[in-house]
Amino acid sequence: MPLVPMKQILDEAIKGNYGVGAFNVNNMEQIQGIMRAAKELNSPVILQASRGALKYTNLYYIKHLVLAAVEDNPDIPIALHLDHGNSLETCKLAIELGFTSVMIDGSLKEDGKTPTSFEENVEVTKKVVEYAHKFGVTVEGELGTLGGIEDGVGSGKVKLTDPDEAARFIKLTGVDALALAIGTSHGAYKFKAEPKLALNIVSAVKTKAPNTPLVMHGSSSVPKELIDIINKYGGELKHTMGVPMESIKEAIKLGVKKINVDTDGRLAMTGAIRKFLAENPSEFDPRTYFGAARQAVYEVVKQKMIDFGSAGHGSDYKPMTLEEAKRFYNI
Ligand SMILES: [Zn+2]
Repeated sequence: MPLVPMKQILDEAIKGNYGVGAFNVNNMEQIQGIMRAAKELNSPVILQASRGALKYTNLYYIKHLVLAAVEDNPDIPIALHLDHGNSLETCKLAIELGFTSVMIDGSLKEDGKTPTSFEENVEVTKKVVEYAHKFGVTVEGELGTLGGIEDGVGSGKVKLTDPDEAARFIKLTGVDALALAIGTSHGAYKFKAEPKLALNIVSAVKTKAPNTPLVMHGSSSVPKELIDIINKYGGELKHTMGVPMESIKEAIKLGVKKINVDTDGRLAMTGAIRKFLAENPSEFDPRTYFGAARQAVYEVVKQKMIDFGSAGHGSDYKPMTLEEAKRFYNI
């Protein structure tokens, strides 16, 4: 099957009341690790690339690596999503490359750092929606700002989402999915103590806009075991807290259907490579340590697919093409 519009994957997740992981990818081993987990568990999956990933892979490599995943896994619904698009231009580029979904993060200006007003956010998001929907491509927006910075994105300031504004935003822009700021944070250094997420915001938005799948960014759990492996083999990472899986499960029940995970995959790969090279000092075939990293990503992602509840849902529905998805938008 070709790449699937993300809207279909998330609408189905609403019907089945489970969450779908959106995993950031930058190279072949990450993609293979994630896809092995998705295939074994028969789980739909969202592969997402940030602007940093597009740059790192020179655009074409990421596109063709994901197309390879599609060819290798014909029975698994896979969406390719742009993470934190900063402008209409970036979203157009992703759509041209064949992405089936884009995020326009209008909560920040094009620099990816300065917070915008509600009106500015509506304006840019609306433009992206008008453009993307003509191609059947899904759009995710964001309202409110998260703490933390990752891949150069983030204001570093927290502004939780106002549920009334969220409902208005959805109506005014026509976005297919909305990322909320509920107290999560980007990056590995999230919280000093266990965070309390503002799950009441999820419930309130869900009540006002029941058909819009909600998105959680900055949702890695930053497991202590992964930090310990890195530090045992020469790393120097501080211990911090991520978002506990119990809170994520609760958020999924209340209306979150897309859960972004980047940091945990990075930690898993780094730990596996450090460990492998420390234990095998004479090894110099990159396939051996990248293979260990791939295995580590597979293990982390597999557990998340089970916890989010997407496992077993890969063949619940007949995947749509972008052409077919145009009917969502009366095009
Ligand atoms: Zn994010």
